[in-house]
Amino acid sequence: MRKITKEVSSLRIVKMTLSILIMVILLVSSFCRQGVSSASYPTTPIVFSNISDNSGDYPVVCYSTTKNGYNVNGHIYVKFEDLASPLGGTYTLAPGPTYVLQINGQTNAFYMSSTTFYSTISYSILDKSTGQTTQYSFNFPGTMPYPVMTIDGYPCVWVQYAARALGSLIADWDGSNNRFVIYDWRVNGNNHLSDTNTYLVGGKWLSNWDSNSTLYLAPHFQLGIDNIWSNPSSHPDYDRQVKIATTVLQSMENTRKLMGNTPYTPSCVFRSYWYNKSLLNSWVWSWHMKGRAMDAGNSAMRDNVKNDINAVAEYDGFLYSTNPNSVTQWDEIESTALASYLHGQRAPRNQDNRSGPVPHCP
Ligand SMILES: [Zn+2]
Repeated sequence: MRKITKEVSSLRIVKMTLSILIMVILLVSSFCRQGVSSASYPTTPIVFSNISDNSGDYPVVCYSTTKNGYNVNGHIYVKFEDLASPLGGTYTLAPGPTYVLQINGQTNAFYMSSTTFYSTISYSILDKSTGQTTQYSFNFPGTMPYPVMTIDGYPCVWVQYAARALGSLIADWDGSNNRFVIYDWRVNGNNHLSDTNTYLVGGKWLSNWDSNSTLYLAPHFQLGIDNIWSNPSSHPDYDRQVKIATTVLQSMENTRKLMGNTPYTPSCVFRSYWYNKSLLNSWVWSWHMKGRAMDAGNSAMRDNVKNDINAVAEYDGFLYSTNPNSVTQWDEIESTALASYLHGQRAPRNQDNRSGPVPHCP
């Protein structure tokens, strides 16, 4: 009888020890899974919006969608997947682990507990005057003030630089509404717009970005020298921001060929939101802000391109190309009544057609 009691009691001890052990294992494993920063932080709205006007300091929010961000001691973090989806980008977890955000031909790699990330892009440009194709492959390092961390079990990134690195026109804390705002042309509620362009994106969130003025993005065109990046005096937060479709770079080269290989310097390629706003009569949906327009030359260059693309139809002040075999490949130019120089644009066409499938914010 005593023996049995002893056995029962030792069985109880074994059971208790086992359950304590299991609890410890569960606690440790959940701690490891969530990383050091496993604490929950207050959530804060991150509003993704298309771009509607230039009347206020920020555009009016339209065609928007909202995700939860985390307020980590005043610094706003977002889950990688929540940043990618409204912009039409993708998030994947690669070995390392490497947290990878891809959008418009661009790859951004982030690492746990690290403030360093990398933006890489590859494309090629054909010089029609020599028939030679040049391959460009860039890998820009960036440094964030706050590292990637795990929150609520999800890898999260400090949203401001990550959103700008993905090519959003504006990514800022909106203090008057207690929310973070991200403005991007691809945002359309929960159904992002399609855009198959490859864009080279840069700005002061990349390390030593200012030193890239002489960087060749095409055989005859340099990032700063040729005014491809935005005017630095327009907004201190967005010094030398750039977003440029590689098709625009190609058409810039083609225009040089059309003009008898005569060198030219564009007067304006990409414009930041505030730079565009600072210009007299600038259009609120300017394709310069979309990274798909260039201004250059005089009426001779404009008229040569007009003939080259056989521009006939007109819509909202633009002449459309009807020549699929044009040298320059510009899809649209500004009408001769509006511009005494060449303003060339690249597809997608009709994006500003208010009756078209693409929203045009009111
Ligand atoms: Zn223009």
